[in-house]
Amino acid sequence: MARRLKEVLREHDTLARIGGDEFIALLADIGTSDDLERVLERMLRVANAPVHLNGQVMQVSASIGVTVYPQDDVDTDQLMRHADQAMYRSKQLGKNRYCRFDLAQNTAVQTQRENLERIRKALAKHEFLLYYQPKVNLQTGRVVGAEALIRWQHPQNGLLAPAAFLPAIEGLPISVEVGEWVLVEALKQINAWGASGLIMPVSVNITAYQLQQPDFTQRLSTLLTAHPNMPVDSLELEILESSVLANIAKTADVMHACQALGVDFSLDDFGTGYSSLTHLRSLPSKTLKIDQTFVHDMLTDPDALAIVIGVIDLGASFHRHVIAEGVETPAHGKKLLEIGCHLAQGYGIARPMPAADLPGWVANWKPDTAWTT
Ligand code: C2E
Ligand code: MG
Ligand code: MG
Repeated sequence: MARRLKEVLREHDTLARIGGDEFIALLADIGTSDDLERVLERMLRVANAPVHLNGQVMQVSASIGVTVYPQDDVDTDQLMRHADQAMYRSKQLGKNRYCRFDLAQNTAVQTQRENLERIRKALAKHEFLLYYQPKVNLQTGRVVGAEALIRWQHPQNGLLAPAAFLPAIEGLPISVEVGEWVLVEALKQINAWGASGLIMPVSVNITAYQLQQPDFTQRLSTLLTAHPNMPVDSLELEILESSVLANIAKTADVMHACQALGVDFSLDDFGTGYSSLTHLRSLPSKTLKIDQTFVHDMLTDPDALAIVIGVIDLGASFHRHVIAEGVETPAHGKKLLEIGCHLAQGYGIARPMPAADLPGWVANWKPDTAWTT
């Protein structure tokens, strides 16, 4: 086999047999991909040709993995590993073929691995923090609670919003760790505020993945026992409506168990999921949170308005609270009151803010005069 392969290589190429049936060919000065392919095809052809040995005819197959330097800009060891990886792919794809190492995919995998590592470190180094966005009753002007929203104070890139880092960990065990950190932190904050005389229920966003962890209720119960003096109804969990709760019956069970602990639920981004109505019917959440895109557009788009009104009506029929998110202007608030939605959250009321700023904000906030008259 070595002799055959050598015959189809050029003078300045190098062929090495590195194991029982493993060869490495080092092809120098390959011009184009076509040139490369021609050499590879030749190698496959000669490897594949019948072997006459002691009156018998035998045939072997070859699987080739290829990587190209300097496009694959790594050291010798890694080049060999990459070629090896590509060779295994050839085998998987049915042998007698060559595969090129997938640089783009490798880079993506690499980046993902680095991101995860970085997020793990951020958790250990306390780089995450929670911002809080008030939720108010537009009519009475009462602040009814706040939503905890995670931020990453990145040492180089500044304050990062969740969209910049949560997608990288979605559905992975580390996301549960981050989610637990959020719960722990929010509970601490509720109690710190409580100790200073500010009763502030907090809602925490929770992924369906976290909720479906077998020990979720147990974990939550443990976290709650650390704060025995916390008023009931202080903690609410927001589940993303669109995260499609695969197993609705099981999710409903978990929700009931949490409710028994005094923790209620809100269906976040309500109306954006595939099965909003099924969720409404089957999941015992106390609150529906109308998705901000509908709220945002309702002043100019009659269809969006119709959906907002529809959700408010559904809420009334099913005895759920309804809160609108994405209230950006006083006019949005006014419209919501007109159509019967009193609870709201949005930039038009307050942007998410550090915990330290919330008590001052609560003390000074006055509802817009357009809402109270
Ligand atoms: P969400 O739970 O629907 O939160 C509302 C998002 O809309 C927040 O973005 C908030 O800053 C933003 N927002 C609030 N009012 C307005 C408004 O009037 N106009 C506009 N355009 N936006 C408004 P943020 O903080 O970037 O969070 C984005 C999403 O990330 C959240 O959407 C939530 O799904 C997720 N998230 C945030 N914190 C956590 C967390 O601790 N855990 C998990 N699992 N997800 C989180
Ligand atoms: Mg939310
Ligand atoms: Mg939302």
